[in-house]
Amino acid sequence: PKPSEVTPVIRMKSYACQRRTPLKHHNSFLTEALEILAENAEFSENEGRSVAFRRSASVLKALPHAVRTIDELKDLPCLGEHSLSVIKEILEDGTSREVESTRQSEQFQAMKALTGVFGVGVKTADRWVREGLRSPLDLVDTGQKLNHAQQAGVQYYKDLNTPVTRKEAMVISVIVEKAVKALLPEAIITLTGGFRRGKEVGHDVDFLITHPEEGAEEKLMPKIVNWLEDQGLLLYQKTTRNSYLESKDGPARPPSNMDRFERCFSIFKLEQSKIDSNAHAEASSWRAIRVDLVVSPYSQFAFATLGWTGSKLFERELRRWAGQEKGMSLSSHALYDSKKKCYLQASSEEEIFTHLGLEYIPPSERNA
Ligand code: ATP
Ligand code: MN
Ligand code: MN
Repeated sequence: PKPSEVTPVIRMKSYACQRRTPLKHHNSFLTEALEILAENAEFSENEGRSVAFRRSASVLKALPHAVRTIDELKDLPCLGEHSLSVIKEILEDGTSREVESTRQSEQFQAMKALTGVFGVGVKTADRWVREGLRSPLDLVDTGQKLNHAQQAGVQYYKDLNTPVTRKEAMVISVIVEKAVKALLPEAIITLTGGFRRGKEVGHDVDFLITHPEEGAEEKLMPKIVNWLEDQGLLLYQKTTRNSYLESKDGPARPPSNMDRFERCFSIFKLEQSKIDSNAHAEASSWRAIRVDLVVSPYSQFAFATLGWTGSKLFERELRRWAGQEKGMSLSSHALYDSKKKCYLQASSEEEIFTHLGLEYIPPSERNA
């Protein structure tokens, strides 16, 4: 072939935290398909299978061009037999039968609808589906017993499944800033999650709050929540206190990926003025938006920032890299070196990457 037809060899590192993954990439037609299969595996609590599909999708997100033939993929990491056969079918036929039949299956659609209710996890949704329930309306119609979170989830279902725009996230940021500064003027508030990675929309808005004086941040969360409640800004909130110091989970390793910060899962009531086209006047309306607030001590702030910026796969890969390649244990609280038997301090994300022997990846390139 002519030189222009030769596909350049792409050297791709195998951990997602060793690569740059931009938000916009060239292979959505493939990654969306693989992520349907990943989601379906999560619905049947097959974590290994789900992570395998997510890793495959992530490799394609990091490619500098659109995949045209299956041969271009032969030297890439993480692409298992199953993923490759799905990719091959899509490249040849435009779609994959497995993906399309999953997408259309009643089981998948019911699990998607029910896990889409705030407060409902896979286990609960699965039980309901086995009882013949299919949608949030079915929960109401059959008088299912719901906890407070789930009641709010059903009540605000439509709003909470309407993507939050960056503009809305900025309005929420201003409110949160105002609340926190009113209580602790020197506090530092960071937007984390998908919006920090440059996403234009998200399912919620995530904030991390700290204070340069260690200890000044203690018991801040209940005060923030009270302030917001007094202003009528909260439709729902559940605050969990910090349990890091009293935990016995061992070095830097809380069970699963849950951390132990003082945190608040909430639903904000966001006022929006809409033009009422009938009355030709401004009508006051509002919508519900999910907001996560986390408070961290200053000494853990860098770890918390890294841990709450995501993506979920990027975080998972960072922890796997730390454990398997470095003999270290990383969490949103700390980094522990098992060989040296000591904690490694850091005051910035850059320092944590350095401790881990990784090239620094900025938030906008962590969209693995
Ligand atoms: P989206 O735009 O859909 O909100 P996101 O990347 O912001 O995408 P989130 O679910 O809001 O996703 O999570 C943001 C980050 O916070 C992720 O990196 C995730 O690992 C972390 N995170 C979320 N929930 C917890 C939790 N309970 N404990 C520890 N970390 C969490
Ligand atoms: Mn988020
Ligand atoms: Mn969140």
